[in-house]
Amino acid sequence: MKEQTNKFVPKCIYGNKDLGYSPTGHITPCCWHNQSFDQPYIEDMFSSELHIDNFDCVDDILNTTPWARFFEMLLNNPSDAPIVCYYHCCTTLDRDVEETDRTIIKPDD
Ligand code: SF4
Repeated sequence: MKEQTNKFVPKCIYGNKDLGYSPTGHITPCCWHNQSFDQPYIEDMFSSELHIDNFDCVDDILNTTPWARFFEMLLNNPSDAPIVCYYHCCTTLDRDVEETDRTIIKPDD
Protein backbone atom coordinates (compact mmCIF):
# COMPACT_ATOMS: atom_id res chain seq x y z
CA MET A 1 0.00 0.00 0.00
CA LYS A 2 1.31 3.39 -0.95
CA GLU A 3 1.84 6.10 1.63
CA GLN A 4 -1.04 8.54 1.99
CA THR A 5 -0.68 12.24 2.73
CA ASN A 6 -3.00 14.88 4.12
CA LYS A 7 -1.45 17.52 1.87
CA PHE A 8 -3.97 19.09 -0.51
CA VAL A 9 -2.78 18.59 -4.08
CA PRO A 10 -5.45 19.30 -6.73
CA LYS A 11 -5.51 16.40 -9.16
CA CYS A 12 -7.07 18.65 -11.82
CA ILE A 13 -3.87 20.72 -11.86
CA TYR A 14 -1.07 18.40 -10.84
CA GLY A 15 -2.57 15.00 -11.74
CA ASN A 16 -4.46 13.56 -14.66
CA LYS A 17 -8.02 14.23 -13.49
CA ASP A 18 -10.18 15.25 -16.43
CA LEU A 19 -13.11 17.63 -16.65
CA GLY A 20 -16.55 16.41 -15.65
CA TYR A 21 -19.93 16.81 -17.31
CA SER A 22 -23.04 17.20 -15.19
CA PRO A 23 -26.46 15.85 -16.24
CA THR A 24 -27.60 19.48 -15.88
CA GLY A 25 -25.61 20.34 -19.01
CA HIS A 26 -22.64 22.00 -17.33
CA ILE A 27 -18.93 21.28 -17.51
CA THR A 28 -17.30 20.82 -14.11
CA PRO A 29 -13.62 20.79 -13.06
CA CYS A 30 -13.87 17.04 -12.44
CA CYS A 31 -16.54 14.36 -12.09
CA TRP A 32 -16.44 14.70 -8.30
CA HIS A 33 -18.15 18.07 -8.70
CA ASN A 34 -20.96 17.01 -11.00
CA GLN A 35 -23.50 17.63 -8.22
CA SER A 36 -21.70 20.40 -6.30
CA PHE A 37 -24.56 22.84 -6.78
CA ASP A 38 -23.95 24.52 -3.41
CA GLN A 39 -20.16 24.38 -3.19
CA PRO A 40 -18.31 27.72 -3.16
CA TYR A 41 -16.76 28.58 -6.52
CA ILE A 42 -18.40 25.55 -8.16
CA GLU A 43 -21.97 26.77 -7.75
CA ASP A 44 -21.22 29.62 -10.17
CA MET A 45 -20.31 27.04 -12.83
CA PHE A 46 -23.92 25.80 -12.70
CA SER A 47 -25.41 29.13 -13.75
CA SER A 48 -27.76 29.24 -16.73
CA GLU A 49 -25.18 31.40 -18.53
CA LEU A 50 -22.60 28.63 -18.35
CA HIS A 51 -24.90 25.93 -19.75
CA ILE A 52 -23.10 24.08 -22.53
CA ASP A 53 -25.81 25.09 -25.04
CA ASN A 54 -24.51 28.67 -24.84
CA PHE A 55 -21.00 27.82 -26.07
CA ASP A 56 -19.42 26.57 -29.27
CA CYS A 57 -16.53 24.82 -27.52
CA VAL A 58 -15.42 23.76 -24.06
CA ASP A 59 -12.43 26.12 -24.13
CA ASP A 60 -14.83 29.06 -24.18
CA ILE A 61 -16.41 27.81 -20.95
CA LEU A 62 -13.01 27.37 -19.32
CA ASN A 63 -12.18 30.99 -20.15
CA THR A 64 -15.14 32.41 -18.22
CA THR A 65 -14.76 34.30 -14.94
CA PRO A 66 -16.06 31.53 -12.60
CA TRP A 67 -13.53 29.10 -14.02
CA ALA A 68 -10.68 31.60 -13.81
CA ARG A 69 -11.64 32.40 -10.20
CA PHE A 70 -11.71 28.71 -9.30
CA PHE A 71 -8.24 27.89 -10.61
CA GLU A 72 -6.80 31.14 -9.27
CA MET A 73 -8.11 30.09 -5.85
CA LEU A 74 -6.67 26.58 -6.14
CA LEU A 75 -3.27 27.97 -7.07
CA ASN A 76 -3.06 30.96 -4.75
CA ASN A 77 -5.55 30.48 -1.93
CA PRO A 78 -6.24 26.74 -1.66
CA SER A 79 -7.52 27.00 1.92
CA ASP A 80 -10.72 28.37 0.33
CA ALA A 81 -11.25 25.25 -1.78
CA PRO A 82 -14.64 23.50 -1.52
CA ILE A 83 -14.84 20.62 0.94
CA VAL A 84 -15.35 18.23 -1.99
CA CYS A 85 -11.87 19.19 -3.22
CA TYR A 86 -10.34 18.47 0.17
CA TYR A 87 -12.16 15.15 0.40
CA HIS A 88 -10.85 13.91 -2.94
CA CYS A 89 -7.48 15.61 -3.29
CA CYS A 90 -5.75 15.06 0.02
CA THR A 91 -4.47 11.71 -1.19
CA THR A 92 -1.42 11.07 -3.28
CA LEU A 93 -1.87 11.94 -6.95
CA ASP A 94 -2.03 8.33 -8.07
CA ARG A 95 -4.76 7.23 -5.62
CA ASP A 96 -8.44 8.08 -5.23
CA VAL A 97 -10.00 8.23 -1.77
CA GLU A 98 -11.70 4.95 -2.66
CA GLU A 99 -8.17 3.49 -3.05
CA THR A 100 -8.62 3.20 -6.80
CA ASP A 101 -5.26 3.16 -8.51
CA ARG A 102 -4.88 6.17 -10.80
CA THR A 103 -1.53 5.28 -12.25
CA ILE A 104 -0.05 8.31 -13.95
CA ILE A 105 1.34 7.48 -17.36
CA LYS A 106 4.19 9.80 -18.27
CA PRO A 107 5.09 10.44 -21.93
CA ASP A 108 8.47 8.70 -21.61
CA ASP A 109 7.16 5.61 -19.73
S1 SF4 B 1 -11.89 17.64 -6.34
FE1 SF4 B 1 -11.37 19.82 -6.70
S2 SF4 B 1 -9.14 19.93 -6.55
FE2 SF4 B 1 -9.70 17.77 -6.82
S3 SF4 B 1 -9.59 17.37 -9.00
FE3 SF4 B 1 -11.70 17.94 -8.55
S4 SF4 B 1 -11.80 20.15 -8.86
FE4 SF4 B 1 -9.65 19.61 -8.71
